[in-house]
Parts: sequence; C-alpha cells; structure tokens
Amino acid sequence: MAIRTGKEYQQGLGRKPRDVWINGEHITNVLEHPIFAASIKEIAKLYDLQHDPKYHDTMTFESPSTGDPVATGFLPPRSAADIQKRSDTFKIIANATFGMMGRTQDYLSTMLMSFAESPHLFEKCGPEYTKRLTNYFEYVRENDLFLTHALIPPQSDRTKASSKQEEEFLHMGVAEETTEGVIIRGARMLATLAPVADELLVYSLPGLKPEDVKHSIMFSIPVDSQGLKIICRRPYSTGQHNVFDHPLAARYEESDAVIVFDNVLVPWERVFIYNDVDASNDLYTKSFVRQHAAHQTAVRGVAKISLAVGTAIHLARSIKIDQFLGVQEKLGRCISALEMIKGCLLAAETNIVTNEKGQVYCALEPLLAIRNFMPRAYPEVIDILRELGAGGLTMNPSKDDIDSAKIGPDILKYYVGAGDMTAPDRISLFNLAWDLTGDAFGMRQLQYERYYSGDPMRNLANTYLGYNGDDCLNLVEDALKGARDD
Ligand SMILES: Cc1cc2nc3c(=O)[nH]c(=O)nc-3n(C[C@H](O)[C@H](O)[C@H](O)COP(=O)(O)OP(=O)(O)OC[C@H]3O[C@@H](n4cnc5c(N)ncnc54)[C@H](O)[C@@H]3O)c2cc1C
Repeated sequence: MAIRTGKEYQQGLGRKPRDVWINGEHITNVLEHPIFAASIKEIAKLYDLQHDPKYHDTMTFESPSTGDPVATGFLPPRSAADIQKRSDTFKIIANATFGMMGRTQDYLSTMLMSFAESPHLFEKCGPEYTKRLTNYFEYVRENDLFLTHALIPPQSDRTKASSKQEEEFLHMGVAEETTEGVIIRGARMLATLAPVADELLVYSLPGLKPEDVKHSIMFSIPVDSQGLKIICRRPYSTGQHNVFDHPLAARYEESDAVIVFDNVLVPWERVFIYNDVDASNDLYTKSFVRQHAAHQTAVRGVAKISLAVGTAIHLARSIKIDQFLGVQEKLGRCISALEMIKGCLLAAETNIVTNEKGQVYCALEPLLAIRNFMPRAYPEVIDILRELGAGGLTMNPSKDDIDSAKIGPDILKYYVGAGDMTAPDRISLFNLAWDLTGDAFGMRQLQYERYYSGDPMRNLANTYLGYNGDDCLNLVEDALKGARDD
C-alpha cells in the first residue's frame, strides 16, 4: 500500500477498537465520539494533503521496496535536496495546523527513520534486532501508519530509579519472557494522540540506571493490543466548542494519555532493544534522532511562534496600541525571537553534514539552540500577547450573542476595533488571542513547548556537556596570550 487518504486512516481506526478512558467514559470506537472528532479530522486532512497535486511531489517519494509514493517523513536524507524536501514537507504540515499539533504524522515517521538510519544501536542486542527495526520501519512506511510514543515513566518518585519504585511494575517493564515474546506490565506517559493512533512506539529517554535492566526495552505495538489501556487527561475541548469562539481549541486539541500495560504481549518481532541499559540510553545521543527530530520540531515551532507573533501584531494594530513606544518595543521583542529561531533553522539547514556513509543531516547546534530557546521564547511572546490584549481578552461575547436579534446590534456597535474594523472581526481576532493565551488549550500549548522534548533544564545542561567550544576557547586563549605577552 502507498500513502493513505484521510478516509483510509479513519477506516483503519474503525477496524481497531481500542481501550480508551476519558471523562469517566470507556470508549472503544473513537470515530463515534465528539471529543476526538476534531483531531481525527485534522489528521485525516494531512493524509489527504499528500494526494493534493500541489503538494504530492514534495510530501512523497518513491518507495525503495515498491516504487509507490510514500510519505517524505520516511525519507532518509542523502543530499541537501532531500533535507529541503523534508523541510518543505514539515512546513506544509505545520502551516496546515498552525504548528498547534505537535504529533503530526511527520514527527514519528522522522523518529523511526532516524532509528533506521542508526542500525548499530540495535546491533548491540543482536543482528535480529536490527532486522526487526528495519522491517518495522518498512511496514510503517508502506502502510502509512500513524504512530505515537510513550517515553517517560509516570511521576511517582523521581528520586528513585524505575526498578526502585514502591511497586515492582509501577513503571513499565518486562514482567515475563515467553517463546512468543515479552509480557509488558506497568505505566508510561505521555502519549499524545494515542487514542487516535494506529501504533505505539515505546523506548526511553536517556537516564536509565544500571539496575533498570527490565525497563530497558524498545518495542512497538498496535494501540488495539490486548491489555493496553489509554487513560486520557481531562479534555480541554469537549467537542462542543464552535470554531468562531475557539478558532484553535475547537480544531487542534491533541489528547494526551497515560498508557497502562496490563500484561501486554509484545511479539519478539516487535522488540528492538532488550535487556540493555546502555543501548537504551544511547538511543538519543548516538543516533541521528536529535538532528532529524529537532529539524521537524523546529519547522513546526516556526509556524507556531509565527502565528503568535502575527496575532500580537494584528491585535495591536486592531486597537491602534501599536502607536505607543512601549508596545512597539514589546512587538520588537516578539519579532526578534521569531527571527532568531528562523535564523537558527536556516543555519541548521545550510550547514548540513554528510558522514562517511553518505547520510546527511542538519547541523545539530543551531537545532539544539532552537530547542533550548523555544521553551523561553514562546512563553515570552504569549505573555506579551496577553499584556497587549489586556481586558479585551476577557470581554468577548459568544457567537450566539452576536447572532442574537436582541443583543447582537449592541455588540455590533460597541465591540468594533479602530478604523473600519467591524465587531465580528475584532471579536474573532481576540478569540484567537484568547485561545493562545488564556484558554486551557493555550495553557497546554505553553506546557507542550516547555516539555515536549524533555526537561528544558537537562536539555540545556546536555547542550553544554556535548559542546566542543573550541572556537570560543581558542579566542580566550588568544586573549590571555595577548595579555601575557604585552
Ligand atoms: C503537552 C505535553 C505533551 C507530551 N507528549 C509526549 C508524548 O507524546 N510522548 C512522550 O513520551 N512524552 C510526552 N511528553 C512528556 C515529556 O516527554 C516530559 O514532560 C518531559 O520529558 C519531562 O519529563 P517529566 O514531565 O516527567 O518531568 P520530570 O522529569 O518529572 O521533571 C519535573 C520537574 O522536576 C525537575 N527534575 C526532575 N528530575 C530532576 C533531577 N534529577 N534533577 C533536577 N531536577 C529534576 C525538572 O527540571 C522539572 O522541572 C509530553 C509533555 C507535555 C507537557
């Protein structure tokens, strides 16, 4: 099978009843529930974009196994043109969702491609592990599947290793080994979009302790596997929001979920790392995941912060506060943050690296700079937007009030903006700003930018630990030498 359509993605969900818990309800068919309707619709639209003649050539490439078109997220880059094709694809997807959906198809296809590019990581466990990972990569690519992942043990006691928690399998691990595969027990967080995914990929961020052997596993499993429970956080958009009142929240809410493995059998052909703490801990630092994943997230991040900066500018102009010096300064800070991120992305895409195997990837340092900067830059832009909107963010009437024959005329009169901006246009713009700044949806977006790629504090520390710094240190040496010789 080649690339799927949105309809085929939805039909796939319908064929796989899953065990989803949300708002006190147990759901098996997510297609029938209003809470998931918006995200399913948006993901389906992204599948359809691949078939749009305008985007088809960019968003697909020829499958090395069948010659059919497959999604560009799976393309292992071998040239600058491939990097550009990947970037253009990320941009099409990010712009279609305004960067608000973090876990679109291109994210995990990129992760999986990065792992497939690093066979040595799996080889450590045995040649069959590499083969399984490669087979799985091809299976997902050829079937255009939608994946999520769960990398983190739940926050029980962070001072203790997974193996030292109160209960043996509070943190997910291998409970048993059978001839068919391994039996997995315990919990993992935080699988975004798990209820509407086809497959779940499980591995760990670095940090497993030597005693965590039974937690050091990487595997994949269909989300409808026997014993796999998906417990969703309380939804922020219940499916009742209308798009006028909530232009973003009504469309781009991504469910986040804890996954409980209640003795789930994972067949051996789906086990990619096993009983190897080092291999597990090396997945990030010794693969190309950081380069490729950070490339996708950087492009998405640009779309997201562009929307926020654009909203701030538009809002300021709509009530003419952009005439004030203090407001101009704030907008200047927003623009500078955006341009810094765009500049780093350009640097990463321009300074590509080709290794001895012909594998090509973006420069890591500028991508890490974006990773480290976004958790501060995005909240700053959102804070400024909140300050500029001030009370205007909390005076918006609903669409029903605007449409009301009785109160509507007052709203049309008193809610206008500066110049010829009509009340509905002004309200609509401020609704957008509220979704970004005040609504629970916007709060999650902030939390997402802070944490989706790990703890920002440890990410910064790791940036330092991995930094060569020769250019800076040589300058210091020259300066000191000059001072000594003077
Ligand atoms: C909206 C959202 C969506 C997400 N989606 C996904 C997803 O799809 N898949 C997925 O796997 N994960 C996802 N994540 C989870 C993300 O990977 C984690 O939030 C991130 O790795 C940080 O881990 P944590 O939340 O467990 O925080 P913790 O590690 O528990 O840290 C909590 C706080 O304690 C501090 N802290 C913890 N340990 C230490 C220490 N040893 N030393 C010093 N300080 C410490 C941290 O700095 C932090 O401030 C998502 C997160 C969010 C917010």
